[in-house]
Amino acid sequence: MNPKLQEHHMYHANNKIKCRELQSRVYWAAGAWLDACEKLGYKFTVTEVFRDQQRQDRLYGIGRWLGGDKPVTWTLSSTHSKRLAVDIVVDNCTYHQVGAVAIEYGIRRPLGGFPLYDEGHLEFTHVKSYPIILSVEAKIKALTRGIKRKLPPVKTMLQNQLKRLLSRSK
Ligand SMILES: [Zn+2]
Repeated sequence: MNPKLQEHHMYHANNKIKCRELQSRVYWAAGAWLDACEKLGYKFTVTEVFRDQQRQDRLYGIGRWLGGDKPVTWTLSSTHSKRLAVDIVVDNCTYHQVGAVAIEYGIRRPLGGFPLYDEGHLEFTHVKSYPIILSVEAKIKALTRGIKRKLPPVKTMLQNQLKRLLSRSK
């Protein structure tokens, strides 16, 4: 493998490891987004995912009461402490390009219009919980299979379960 490509893969692998700090229910979106960006040749580094409240409070002070030229964060209650945000620093692409790919998976760049700070901040608050959707689908499949094979009264019981599941997932 040529060194440049190898370096690119390393970026990608490290970003994926870092994104493991996200809530597990939204990790699928991070993986899909990173894969899509790699295919497009976008190189960037995921610099921060989880941040505890103490660190968030300290960051909020920068550019306010702790010194520093300008603020580095806009809020005290960060989606980082909920494990629903990542910060990136771009290398060979723009934040806008990376954000355009991210939005396809429900990942948003809420501060994209504020180039002063936090332009590399992406949020997972609107990402759908893929595993939950999958498990409902899997349940429906299993019930349908069972209904075909079983005889009453088990058949009727399964039919009722399926009815309840379908009305809930609407
Ligand atoms: Zn951030």
